[in-house]
Amino acid sequence: MAAVQQFQRSLFRGARLAAATHNSNYSRNRSSSASSNGYNFELNDTQKEFQEIARKFTREEIIPVAAEYDRTGNYPWDLVKKAHSIGLMNGHVPEEYGGIGAGVFDGCIVAEELAYGCTGIMTALEANGLGQTPVLVAGNHEQKKKYFGRQIEEPLLAAYAVTEPGAGSDVNGTKTRAEKKGDEWILNGQKMWITNGGVANWYFVLARTNPDPKVPASKAFTGFIVEREWEGVTPGRKEINMGQRASDTRGITFEDVRIPKENVLVGEGQGFKVAMATFDKTRPPVAAGAVGLAQRCLDEASRYSLERKTFGVPIAQHQAVAFMLADMAIGVETGRLAWMRSAWQVDNGIRNTYAASIAKCHAADIANKCATDAVQIFGGNGFNTEYPVEKLMRDAKIYQIYEGTSQIQRVIISKSLIERAKELA
Ligand SMILES: Cc1cc2nc3c(=O)[nH]c(=O)nc-3n(C[C@H](O)[C@H](O)[C@H](O)COP(=O)(O)OP(=O)(O)OC[C@H]3O[C@@H](n4cnc5c(N)ncnc54)[C@H](O)[C@@H]3O)c2cc1C
Repeated sequence: MAAVQQFQRSLFRGARLAAATHNSNYSRNRSSSASSNGYNFELNDTQKEFQEIARKFTREEIIPVAAEYDRTGNYPWDLVKKAHSIGLMNGHVPEEYGGIGAGVFDGCIVAEELAYGCTGIMTALEANGLGQTPVLVAGNHEQKKKYFGRQIEEPLLAAYAVTEPGAGSDVNGTKTRAEKKGDEWILNGQKMWITNGGVANWYFVLARTNPDPKVPASKAFTGFIVEREWEGVTPGRKEINMGQRASDTRGITFEDVRIPKENVLVGEGQGFKVAMATFDKTRPPVAAGAVGLAQRCLDEASRYSLERKTFGVPIAQHQAVAFMLADMAIGVETGRLAWMRSAWQVDNGIRNTYAASIAKCHAADIANKCATDAVQIFGGNGFNTEYPVEKLMRDAKIYQIYEGTSQIQRVIISKSLIERAKELA
């Protein structure tokens, strides 16, 4: 116990140091990365420190308990509390609201490290950022002060509630509705597959506020901040998913929930833009998480391929196995570069929707390929829960589904290509 406390204290000192140095380094680093120096593949000192803190937390706190959380499906509250206490959560909250105003790139560094340990636990932590991002990009001063402030004080979580039983990829099909009554909005409807749905303190909720089906999506929806404890908010049962079982996924029912007008984000009809703009900042960390998982697959498979012998030699010496490892490395390296580019763009004010979709789609696909190949390299052992790779394979699948499926990423990428081709024609 004393050792844990000592470890926490040293991590906390590290995080505080990172926060302090961050403030002095950050603007310099940001402006230098946007200057004419060209590409730079080296992390700055602050980023190295973030990485080191997250890596240590992953090795010492996440990896030892990941299999047990996967088995029980319990929510990793103790890890959320520790991550909060050492500054691994809420880093992107601006300084004036108690955070350190870290960029998306910095968040991705942390996400990749945590995902290496367990993407279920990483998703539990990362979905908090997903819930906060609509407020980050569109909230007013009072909203940020109130909702970020309480999260800086205590390990309270946020969630992003957009998907519904009948509307996932097709957000325009959202049926949850809010009607204006005096100074309030009355919310009714049902959301589905909401990460942190049962444990969040507050939600970003997208609701239709214009019932006219002819009104375009860009004007038909409004984004609200809804508190878990308000009357009429009822999370459903925890869903039993294929993988990432430490993460809490639920439906949520809203029945005559009274939302004060102060909790509208930006204004009536602006919700769709807010919900979509969020993804430019949250898809890069999801991609980074998938790369973290892929790196873990590569490391586990490399180690095993040196230990396991067939026909008198370690299986790494069979070219078929060695080439699988090489393909995994190609995926990991290119996946990492892709999240880096998309994160760098958004941090530097460059529209990154295209790059974020490429990063997310590519990383999701390589995570699945690496996990499948890692199971293959482990042979029969790979199919068994005593070895780590079957969990990696189950955990990988969701990367091709949440935050926009791989098909939807390809729709975004191809639309962008066609628009560009038309401009050139
Ligand atoms: C574990 C988990 C956590 C999640 N967390 C959240 C969360 O925190 N917040 C939230 O709001 N949502 C969350 N989701 C929902 C997730 O984002 C959706 O499941 C996803 O967007 C897909 O929507 P859908 O399930 O309705 O599938 P559908 O939209 O019904 O799609 C079904 C299939 O059709 C394909 N498809 C659909 N439209 C097209 C098209 N135009 N072109 C080509 N193919 C198409 C899809 O790619 C998919 O393969 C989560 C889901 C899961 C499973």
